Amino acid sequence: MANTANDTNFFTDVCKNFDDAAQFTGHPEGLLSQIKACNSVYRFQFPIRRGNGFEVIDAWRVEHSHHMSPTKGGIRYSEMVNEDEVMALAALMTYKCAIVNVPFGGAKGGIKITPKNYTTGELENITRRYTTELIKKNFIGPGIDVPAPDYGSGEREMSWIADTYMTMNPGQLDALGCVTGKPIALHGIRGRKEATGRGVAYAIRECVRVTEDMQKIGLTAGLGDKRVIVQGLGNVGYHSAKFLTEFGATIVGLCEYEGAIYNANGLNVDEVFAHRKLTGSILGFPGATEFKNSMEGLEQPCDILVPAALENQITVENIKNIKAKIIAEGANGPCTPEAEDIFTQMGGIIIPDMYCNAGGVTVSYFEWLKNLSHVAFGRMEKRYAENSNANLINTLESLTGQSIPSEHRLMIIKGASELELVNSGLEDTMIHSYHEIRETLLSKPGIQTLRTAAFVGSIDKIAVSYMNLGIWP
Ligand code: NAD
Repeated sequence: MANTANDTNFFTDVCKNFDDAAQFTGHPEGLLSQIKACNSVYRFQFPIRRGNGFEVIDAWRVEHSHHMSPTKGGIRYSEMVNEDEVMALAALMTYKCAIVNVPFGGAKGGIKITPKNYTTGELENITRRYTTELIKKNFIGPGIDVPAPDYGSGEREMSWIADTYMTMNPGQLDALGCVTGKPIALHGIRGRKEATGRGVAYAIRECVRVTEDMQKIGLTAGLGDKRVIVQGLGNVGYHSAKFLTEFGATIVGLCEYEGAIYNANGLNVDEVFAHRKLTGSILGFPGATEFKNSMEGLEQPCDILVPAALENQITVENIKNIKAKIIAEGANGPCTPEAEDIFTQMGGIIIPDMYCNAGGVTVSYFEWLKNLSHVAFGRMEKRYAENSNANLINTLESLTGQSIPSEHRLMIIKGASELELVNSGLEDTMIHSYHEIRETLLSKPGIQTLRTAAFVGSIDKIAVSYMNLGIWP
């Protein structure tokens, strides 16, 4: 049985990973302690009216690091949320932002509820009250702390947060930048919803592109022949599976909390999603072998495993049964440090959460920039680029006397849309960051894993920020 997210050792695990990496950096002990510490932990309770009475809700907002402002991180809606978990997730956000060069400190929020047990009206009350509590303590704002979706929350909750903040801050020009992951109608950005999963798929694609690394673990380069199992069919899991399929991989297994399904010939993710929506379960999907114990699904034959549900899913208890050669951490903290040590000895590669799922915060950064600039990406230059390209083609045609076929003409002329710009920025970020981490791994003798290399890179960047702030000599 895997640990549950209630086990209160997640922050310790993140700190252990930090300490493993810190020895390769050479920064002074005091500076390392400052980088590692959670700067502000705000724990609060508030009442909501339910039925004929009231219920008291537990909630948190943790700002891990103020080396950059604002701080940034999602809000988790889950019965399993606890202070240790929110601190761990906030810390991971700091390191994540540094890895993908997003200029934010890390933060995270938590509301201890099971969303499906509440009506839409109650969820709205909870979200608006949570936001009000953050406003009262100066824990939210476009230049202070900017929440986003996480497990159990999405666009709807983000729009309630934005509306509450704007109501309480009339006339604040940049108010919409107080939260990201908003719907497009409320000045969200195209591509944000799918960004984390898309980023996971880019991360995996980049990892399997490196022939020498694949040879070491007995795989060929490329996604074409790769069999993938995904845990969690929520935002991150669904989109990871969808884009991996688009990039040529085959999804052979899917695991949800009610059970898991497996088909060596491949599963159509959209069909499974539709089946679950209709029946309430992924079990019973035609043609698939099924496992009532969802954890068994992780142990089926595959090349790549993408845990995209919760932390502490892969531990010393099940790591030896995992058949995958690559674990790509879509979720935050799905593998414990002890399990990672064993997997590394088994010759496997873990693509660490702090890089692997950084697509969400990368595109959240683009959304924040859009909100601060009050103009959608591409709006100013799209038509100009199309006219320039058309002029170029027309000139070439008249000089050569040859005409370019219309489908090619359209492709060359077309200016970039907001979605294309967002995806291009995301793809570039994920490719660049992967190789930055891999370079660190190769260049510092003694580093064994991509995670340690990722931590080393981000600790170095945060240390430089502190030095630039003049806080450290
Ligand atoms: P989500 O709520 O959209 O989806 C989570 C899914 O996991 C749900 O379908 C749920 O039923 C399933 N699940 C829960 N327990 C399970 C179990 N034991 N076995 C199998 N499936 C289980 O949440 P999400 O936004 O996709 O987040 C998932 C993970 O990704 C979290 O760790 C989160 O912190 C991380 N993450 C999310 C984002 C984002 O942009 N949403 C960004 C970075 C990291």
